Amino acid sequence: MKDRYQVVVIGGGIVGASVLYHLTLRGLTDVALVERAELTAGSSWHAAGGFHAINADTHIAALQKYTIGMYPTVEQESGQSVGLHMTGGLELAGTPERWEWLKTELAWLRTMDTEAYLVSPDEAAAMCPIIDPAGLQGALFDPHEGNLDPHGATHAYAGAARRRGAEVVLHNRVLSVERLAGGDWRLETELGPVTTEHVVNAAGLWARKVGRMVGVDHPLVPMQHHYLVTEDVPEVAAIDGVMPSVTDLEGFTYLQREKNGVLLGVYEQNPRHWQVDGPGWDYGMELIPKEIERISPELSIGFDRFPALQKAGIKRWVNGAITFTPDGNPLVGPVSGVPNYWAACGVMAGFSQCAAIGLALANWIVDGDPGADVFGMDVARFGAFAAEDGYLRALTSQFYARRFVMAYPNEELPAGRPLKTSPAFDDLADAGARFGAVWGLEVPLFFAPGDPAFEEEPSLRRSNAHDLVGEEVAAVRTAAGAYETAAYARYEVSGAGAEAWLDRILACRIPPPGRVRLAPVLRETGTLMGDLTVTRLSDDRFWLVGSYYLQEWHLRWFRDLLPPRGVELRNLSDAWVGFSVSGPSSRLIVQRAIDADLSAEAMPFLTARLMAFDGADAMVARLSLTGELGYEVTVPAAYHRSLLRALRSSGDGDGLRLVGDRAIDSLRLEKAYGIWSAEFTQAYTPGMSGLERFVAFDKGAFIGREAAQRERDRGPAQRLVLLEVAADGADASGDEPVWRDGTRVGFVTSGAFGHHVGRSLALAYVDSAVAEDSPALSVHIVGDERPARILPEPPYDPSGSRMRDI
Ligand SMILES: Cc1cc2nc3c(=O)[nH]c(=O)nc-3n(C[C@H](O)[C@H](O)[C@H](O)COP(=O)(O)OP(=O)(O)OC[C@H]3O[C@@H](n4cnc5c(N)ncnc54)[C@H](O)[C@@H]3O)c2cc1C
Repeated sequence: MKDRYQVVVIGGGIVGASVLYHLTLRGLTDVALVERAELTAGSSWHAAGGFHAINADTHIAALQKYTIGMYPTVEQESGQSVGLHMTGGLELAGTPERWEWLKTELAWLRTMDTEAYLVSPDEAAAMCPIIDPAGLQGALFDPHEGNLDPHGATHAYAGAARRRGAEVVLHNRVLSVERLAGGDWRLETELGPVTTEHVVNAAGLWARKVGRMVGVDHPLVPMQHHYLVTEDVPEVAAIDGVMPSVTDLEGFTYLQREKNGVLLGVYEQNPRHWQVDGPGWDYGMELIPKEIERISPELSIGFDRFPALQKAGIKRWVNGAITFTPDGNPLVGPVSGVPNYWAACGVMAGFSQCAAIGLALANWIVDGDPGADVFGMDVARFGAFAAEDGYLRALTSQFYARRFVMAYPNEELPAGRPLKTSPAFDDLADAGARFGAVWGLEVPLFFAPGDPAFEEEPSLRRSNAHDLVGEEVAAVRTAAGAYETAAYARYEVSGAGAEAWLDRILACRIPPPGRVRLAPVLRETGTLMGDLTVTRLSDDRFWLVGSYYLQEWHLRWFRDLLPPRGVELRNLSDAWVGFSVSGPSSRLIVQRAIDADLSAEAMPFLTARLMAFDGADAMVARLSLTGELGYEVTVPAAYHRSLLRALRSSGDGDGLRLVGDRAIDSLRLEKAYGIWSAEFTQAYTPGMSGLERFVAFDKGAFIGREAAQRERDRGPAQRLVLLEVAADGADASGDEPVWRDGTRVGFVTSGAFGHHVGRSLALAYVDSAVAEDSPALSVHIVGDERPARILPEPPYDPSGSRMRDI
């Protein structure tokens, strides 16, 4: 071991080894992996080694495909077998609802260009003869599944990295990690001190402990996980050829061939955490005592589904620990305020994701950019709240137990709630709000006034809340709706250097005092980093408004770019909250509530002012997300409830209704407005998304300008369009493929029923030629292919006069 490296990776599991290899692929050779014991000595050695490309996040699914494709390469480079078996995999549907869900999943998979297909129960049993097809509805077969030898795969990555110049240091625990005054890291290790420019936390089960060495509490926790391996099973031995792996979704088990027997793993409904702060440093390659009674309900379903196992002897029981995060995806990337410390931990499915993590992290370290939309595994998608013990345990238990349970687009899960509530929460609840959770914050989805017993049914189709949402939409179009804006993030930027700094990080022209502007934020690659609004309160004071759940992510970006002096950045997200009131009566209602002149002359479209409300400041901005005349009123949190009460007493007689997220989705689709996470993400560009019209190409330099200009010159390959879908009781929800004459030409980003215009609408990215031609298209919705057409303009008020000209 040398005493200095450019990068030190802590941890020699499959993830650390892959990160090391990918660093060498990017040309870094002054790199070392430091491992406490042997390679694989954490979770990796006793993994079942199964892998698959399917992930609910399409970008992560693409990266998982990359992981699977890398195994033959590292095997060849290292000369170490990874024991790859590309068997394909079956997902079994045991109920009609699950069968419908699988058909929907197949459509999503088409968006990712996978070759998966549906098979009948008999076909599934023919592919894997130990399945009892009784009661099955069918199955989904995905050829991009299989299993490998976890030990071989880890050694292959480490070996290939070594051949490219990296060093692997075994039996050397990292004892502490400390930041030196010059910016380097100093690691105390059992073999002596090492300094390094970058340090990567790939410490798996111990990652929380290693994170705490640098003052970071990662939201990850080990959980127990069981599988068993049988002795030879004659019915398996008799299978001539490949036996696909099988996931019995209703049975909570997965199965794969192990020589002439099988490995049967369980995602039990009653999971257990294990060593929540990480195991002791001396924990070896040991197993946790098995808890057969706890997993027996799921095992007995497994033995019914695979009856040949009932007579099989059990050769080996494995109860090991896997780290879980609140959403089951890994924690990857830089951590705000801890320069050159990189997370590569919280990895539940290391053998599906190791190369994806290695690739993203190596790109990030070398280029300052992961090279793809990796928000789904970005460490900055969580805030500090997620590492709080009770919350973390609740969310990870829920995730584990629901690993194979159907997830519906309209479903809100109960774990860890309520965590954060706005000051008006009780009033909103009393008014019938049904809440969802955004970044731990309770936000109204819709209101069921006067019906405390109402519960929305999880569904792929229009739910029983459809008509309630319709009433909220009608109120906004004909009178007014008040939408709580607690789920907006707000940042104040001030100081002598504020304007110049914003001019560089925002792609729009900086507005004059008193004006509001839509402000795309770009990366150097020309892809989107935000869809903010910027409000200028005075020469040197601005507000940026964005999405609440992106706070950590945006703040990391801003802080990295802040100059050493002259600009102050404050996060006001929980300190200021408000309501967005829109609709033809909104002026009257807001004017009365806050006792101010909001006439068109006093307050034209896209202006903002601080006004007095009950002795406090209220920030009033004239804009709306609904396409109607509207005002966003934001007050210090202590006044939030008073503001709601003032709005309601002013508006009750004029048809004001409280409205939630679902109504906003319907209203914004009628206007073809996109939102972050759907139409706008870091995978898309201003040209694709239509945000180009807010980019001031003719102003001075700003981040991303050259790349965005290049794209503008050649034209984007895909464009965002609004589709009208001939839907039948179900609307698009996102990720559905868009077809033209049997060829996939795009995918849906979000969909909703436009209650006012009476049409099913979807925003979609389609090939630019298709966007220009406007041909007959179709969209898969809940497994059915439905006709669709591109709307040349929004179906509601295409000129925008209702919002602007009143
Ligand atoms: C029973 C079981 C079945 C599984 N089945 C599958 C499956 O089929 N498919 C799949 O994809 N995944 C499976 N997994 C999960 C998979 O094992 C993990 O996702 C993966 O191994 C995580 O790898 P890692 O490199 O992040 O962590 P680990 O394998 O835990 O490696 C971390 C390494 O860091 C080292 N380390 C920690 N602290 C220090 C320090 N201070 N100094 C030096 N070294 C340190 C440790 O010794 C360890 O070797 C399974 C896991 C278990 C337990």
